[in-house]
Amino acid sequence: MTEPRRDSRWWGWGDPDVPTELGEAAERMLGERGISTGADASPPEIDRVEIPEAVPVDERVLSAAGAENVFTGNEDRIRHANGQNYLDLLELREGRLQHAPDAVIVADSGPRIAAILEACASAGVAVVPFGGGSSVVGGVTPLKGDHESVISLDLAGLRGIEVDDRSLTAKLGAGLRGPEAEALLAERGFTLGHYPQSFEYATIGGFAATRSAGQSSSGYGRFDSLVSSIRLITPEGELSTLSTPHTSIGPALREVVVGSEGILGVIPDVDVRIRPLPAARRYEAWIVEDFEAGCEIVRGLAQADRLPTIIRVSDDSETEVNLAMALPSGAAGSLFRRYLKLRGREGGALVITGYEGSPAAVHRSRSDVAREIRRGGGVYLGQAAGKGWEKGRFHGPYLREALLERGVLVETLETAQQWSGHRNLYETVRAALKSELAANGMEGIVMCHLSHAYRDGASLYFTVISTQGPDGGAANWPKVKRAACAAIQSAGGTLSHHHATGRDHAPWIEGEIGTSGIEALAALKERFDPSGIMNPGKLLDASRAGSDPPSR
Ligand SMILES: Cc1cc2nc3c(=O)[nH]c(=O)nc-3n(C[C@H](O)[C@H](O)[C@H](O)COP(=O)(O)OP(=O)(O)OC[C@H]3O[C@@H](n4cnc5c(N)ncnc54)[C@H](O)[C@@H]3O)c2cc1C
Repeated sequence: MTEPRRDSRWWGWGDPDVPTELGEAAERMLGERGISTGADASPPEIDRVEIPEAVPVDERVLSAAGAENVFTGNEDRIRHANGQNYLDLLELREGRLQHAPDAVIVADSGPRIAAILEACASAGVAVVPFGGGSSVVGGVTPLKGDHESVISLDLAGLRGIEVDDRSLTAKLGAGLRGPEAEALLAERGFTLGHYPQSFEYATIGGFAATRSAGQSSSGYGRFDSLVSSIRLITPEGELSTLSTPHTSIGPALREVVVGSEGILGVIPDVDVRIRPLPAARRYEAWIVEDFEAGCEIVRGLAQADRLPTIIRVSDDSETEVNLAMALPSGAAGSLFRRYLKLRGREGGALVITGYEGSPAAVHRSRSDVAREIRRGGGVYLGQAAGKGWEKGRFHGPYLREALLERGVLVETLETAQQWSGHRNLYETVRAALKSELAANGMEGIVMCHLSHAYRDGASLYFTVISTQGPDGGAANWPKVKRAACAAIQSAGGTLSHHHATGRDHAPWIEGEIGTSGIEALAALKERFDPSGIMNPGKLLDASRAGSDPPSR
């Protein structure tokens, strides 16, 4: 028997033993921008959280799952009720949940999943596949759709590994979290190289189901490109793709499963491409004139096939906030300030580069990239600042907890566009965010970075830190997010480069994939999930098409 995991904060992100502190410099910086950090938005005790009453689980589902794998206690239901977007976290802190699964069922094998899905289909029970629960787009919200009850199918029991060290592939269980998968691979001398900021809790199955991208994706590839073959267990049988480096047999069914967000079935394991552990690593930081100059450097590197393993460019506003929040007294902070003084300028954009591989490859790539950054006007800040970024690369969500604790609104959204429309997308979305914050009486900071680059374009990742506004964050954020989605679509960007669709983007996808696209997805769903039990209301939600935007 595997129990659901209970090792993170139930009300938000992270290891409860890791403190969530803001720091004086951050408080000062926020205060100067009119963002008060004086509120106390601590969560209640868990036994005071109000959740919808549970509907008893149908006997057929109980016997398919095995009674010992069914958990109906409030703590487990609460831990599976929300993902990790701002509205999810606000609701948890307020202690009143709109949705909760009627039961959490932990699955530990493919045959068990098949039996559970079959029983749920005949009993009319909705199923929400649950990996790490780190979705920021409402992907794990336990919606019932047309059904009487809903279970959260927790895949924590699937943690196997099989390595083929000749082909450099590994079969990884869907329930392995990022650090677990990397530790198992490292014992054998390998790495997957997938490091999203949610690495600590997100799982292999979740990476596949959402087409995730990691901080090192420029070097190792996005998760979808690491998938060599994949399996999907559906209420109507199993789909599996051949383990082969490539095939020309029809459209890629692998791509039907990767990114399916739990609406077609459950991914029990994924065959991934692995690499030997890198012998050398080097991280460093640079300052360039402004965001545009940084993006141009990245475009040049991408188009010359010279991208390092990691490259990210923060816009001027993110650079300032990062330096205040994360590196206030470190080497980067003082060098940055000195540099600004020398140049008599007020802005500048931070660039982080990282190189991983053999010592020779790291040396070669570093020389190429450094030359191009210098040519683009960059000033070297050194390895200490790069190492500082590397050390704190998974700490952002803890800072967000600290801000939420003080009643500050923090949310992110991301998109991508080709280079010809990239600058326009940045400006359009930024302007929309700023003007909607102002229209709702919210004082905020809008910042952005580029972290995934291609020959033809790049991602843009926006962070908003603001006051909640007079009507409160739950009322105001959906309006801001709606403005951002509309701006993204008007500027030709994708609704998401790597966070996926979930519930939040479902009403908007017709604008991206068109009516035929929606119908094609609906036909796939009809084939694999005719009773519509799989993750209702996510990705494909024709009933909400054109309706109101993300809100709870
Ligand atoms: C602080 C933070 C930082 C983040 N940073 C990044 C980032 O850098 N890059 C990035 O790509 N994303 C990021 N995300 C988003 C999120 O972590 C990813 O979408 C991740 O891939 C989700 O993995 P998970 O295991 O938590 O999936 P969950 O949140 O549990 O599920 C996500 C979706 O996939 C479905 N699903 C999960 N497992 C399976 C399965 N085995 N079979 C079928 N369906 C399944 C769920 O039903 C749901 O629709 C971040 C999120 C947070 C909170």
